[in-house]
Amino acid sequence: MALEALDQPTSSAAGGCASSGCGSSSDKLAHLPEHIRAKVHNHPCFSEDAHHHYARMHVAVAPACNIQCHYCNRKYDCSNESRPGVVSEVLTPEQAVAKTLAVAAEIPQMTVLGIAGPGDPLANPERTLATFRALTEKAPDIKLCVSTNGLALPELVDEICQHNIDHVTITINCVDPEIGAKIYPWIFWNNRRIKGVKAAQILIEQQQKGLQMLCDRGVLVKVNSVLIPGVNDEHLKEVSRVVKAKGAFLHNVMPLIAEPEHGTFYGLMGQRGPSNDELQALQEACAGDMAMMRHCRQCRADAVGMLGEDRGAEFTLEKIAAMDIDYAAAMQRRAEVHAAIEANRTAQQQQRNETFVPITSLKRSSKPKPAPLAAPPARIAVASSGGGVINVHFGHAREFLIYEAAGVGDRVDVRFLAARKVDLYCAGGDTCGDAEDALAKTIRTLAGCTAVLCSKIGIEPWDRLEAAGLVPNGEHAMEPIEDAVAAVYHELLAAGRLGVEDAADAPVALSA
Ligand code: SF4
Repeated sequence: MALEALDQPTSSAAGGCASSGCGSSSDKLAHLPEHIRAKVHNHPCFSEDAHHHYARMHVAVAPACNIQCHYCNRKYDCSNESRPGVVSEVLTPEQAVAKTLAVAAEIPQMTVLGIAGPGDPLANPERTLATFRALTEKAPDIKLCVSTNGLALPELVDEICQHNIDHVTITINCVDPEIGAKIYPWIFWNNRRIKGVKAAQILIEQQQKGLQMLCDRGVLVKVNSVLIPGVNDEHLKEVSRVVKAKGAFLHNVMPLIAEPEHGTFYGLMGQRGPSNDELQALQEACAGDMAMMRHCRQCRADAVGMLGEDRGAEFTLEKIAAMDIDYAAAMQRRAEVHAAIEANRTAQQQQRNETFVPITSLKRSSKPKPAPLAAPPARIAVASSGGGVINVHFGHAREFLIYEAAGVGDRVDVRFLAARKVDLYCAGGDTCGDAEDALAKTIRTLAGCTAVLCSKIGIEPWDRLEAAGLVPNGEHAMEPIEDAVAAVYHELLAAGRLGVEDAADAPVALSA
């Protein structure tokens, strides 16, 4: 299905960041051993912070699949849909290597190459491994990832390790064959099609065996699970417990995507996907002390660029053929760009530490200085296209990043919750005809948020947001996201917008 992803565990049971600066973690990977941190530090999927700065790409070399999932319908000529299993063209390994080198040269912040379909990469082992083999040799500065349903995994684990693939994702939707039979109508196993509970049982055994083998060999494993309401929603807590016990590094619970026009079994049968709140509740329930990925964009199997964007159209086979790539020179340039990104990340962190304003300093009354407070959480939506800053005009946003800020003691904890896609409100020219409708949908998508932060916003959407009870804010353009969220949280708190008249009147006083 999709490439890997890793978000690190948060410091509190509620998943809040460690305390420093605005309350965001100064180094969200600090709890990990050094060699693991090095593996994930610039991986946009395995590190939540890295996804603001680094890009990924998928190459679609794996058309065949060895199982059928009720949520999957592979499409090969589609440039309009963005979901796993959809691609514009299937590539040969040679074409995939040429495309990877071209993208790496043109988008130097691209650090990760993943094979995630459109079928199952390990059901196409020759094509998948030939691609990895060539890239290991030609582009040693790119991390290699593979994503699989796990059926063919155990017999390929040793080869995966030989190819220096440090990150593997297994899609595990259940550990109970009775539930599995409701998700997988059949598997293709030992040259036979097997159906029902028996098929699910074999798949589950192979997944668990492969997971254990990878963990025993020190490979970082992310487990993807598709949340299917009424089918495996309650069961995913057990899945999380089992995979964590085996050594999975990260759990990525994703919402089912099921629309009739996708032609999937679930889409045609009217199976609904989860609401934002249902997804978040399950992610919280699964979290405990296990790392949960919350920034997955459920990318196409040929996605290119930063998470949330797709620059695949810039790298068609025709365009790649016209490029003259000197990869040695490109590697030099890539190293310089990565160094600049790291300098920027460090500077942002330092700024965060220096701009910390304690909640209690906002006290407007003459009451005595209160004990450390617990102020209510607020969800704040942010428009960003990367770099870890607020840099997108409201009308140009294709997604909003949802953060939660909460006062805890004398600091504000800021944590990332989710990315929510929206339709473009304004593309300029004649394409604003449906803007009214798009804005109404965006406002619905932002339900539950208190404020919206963007680099700029027009008067009309400003008024509409306010009428819907949202606070628009364009005053933090180009500021680091977590600083801005903390600052706006302070403003909302001081203005009595969070149900607390004054910071000093926050409802819960914690012991110092
Ligand atoms: S964000 Fe995209 S590339 Fe990363 S894990 Fe999710 S689907 Fe894969």
